[in-house]
Amino acid sequence: QAKSSGGNRVEFFRPEMDVGVSHRLNLEHEIREALAAQQFRLLYQPQIDAVTGRICGVEALIRWLHPTRGVLPPAAFIPMAEESGLIVDIGNWVLEEAARQRAAWREIGVEDDVVICVNASPLQFRRGTVLPTLLRLKREYGFDSGFLEIEVTESMLMDSAGRMIEDLMAIRQLGVKLSIDDFGTGYSSLAYLKRLPIDMIKIDRAFVNDVTTDPNDAVICTTIIALAHNLGVKVCAEGVEGQEQSDFLRQQQCDVLQGYHFSAPVLPDVVTDMFTSGRRFQT
Ligand code: C2E
Ligand code: MG
Ligand code: MG
Ligand code: MG
Repeated sequence: QAKSSGGNRVEFFRPEMDVGVSHRLNLEHEIREALAAQQFRLLYQPQIDAVTGRICGVEALIRWLHPTRGVLPPAAFIPMAEESGLIVDIGNWVLEEAARQRAAWREIGVEDDVVICVNASPLQFRRGTVLPTLLRLKREYGFDSGFLEIEVTESMLMDSAGRMIEDLMAIRQLGVKLSIDDFGTGYSSLAYLKRLPIDMIKIDRAFVNDVTTDPNDAVICTTIIALAHNLGVKVCAEGVEGQEQSDFLRQQQCDVLQGYHFSAPVLPDVVTDMFTSGRRFQT
């Protein structure tokens, strides 16, 4: 029997909680094994230059090739990995794999200004692992500029102000770029935004979806684009699913477009073919 009154909530043990706990411990154990057994993969989603249609970047998106449950999306394991701290190890693997892939693409002549964007979790910064890993990778592969871009979220930037800025500055000194992911869904101080060493803002797909049918979303997108440009920052629209959205965003001077309309996240070989054939997309 559970009692809830005056803001104090007393919950008694329910059998299903036990299932929850053991499920979580099991998942945690499985994630550790998955790292050791190399069951994680990165897919890459092309980011399209709105003006030229050229691939100007790709976003690395993790998948888990689970031995019995098939291909798992991040939503199935990233939250657990964040709770348990395993995201730090996963995050390091993602950085390593992305850098290795970037070096492989450099070998086949992909230009230096094409970035691989990597999602990073706040915990990776709090544990201080991002900077040393990037330093090591830069040295290992001999990158001299712009080899990766790190995507962080607004809430993370607001989280731990002082130390975070120093870290981000140092990361940028390495030639690694920074972008704010899912912009508009968290809360950020606009005054703060101009002090951050950011290269790109990514408009959350929640606003991009109905940009041509919902006047509010249109205003939000237009405003974010203007804000970013006034701060000297580029803008990427996420979740572009149709030509009408692409048209609107291009007219509003959005710099980069990403979404199923152009390409879903695909295997690295598919991106390699796009690069070698000099593929340009109709924006
Ligand atoms: P995100 O960084 O905002 O990535 C974009 C998500 O939107 C991806 O989902 C992508 O597949 C999906 N998407 C792309 N185009 C479209 C579209 O046109 N329509 C719709 N409806 N969706 C589209 P995915 O791959 O399931 O990733 C979900 C989230 O998981 C990511 O959101 C990111 O926050 C997180 N994530 C992915 N990979 C990593 C990683 O390596 N590390 C960490 N910490 N988080 C990751
Ligand atoms: Mg992202
Ligand atoms: Mg994200
Ligand atoms: Mg996003």
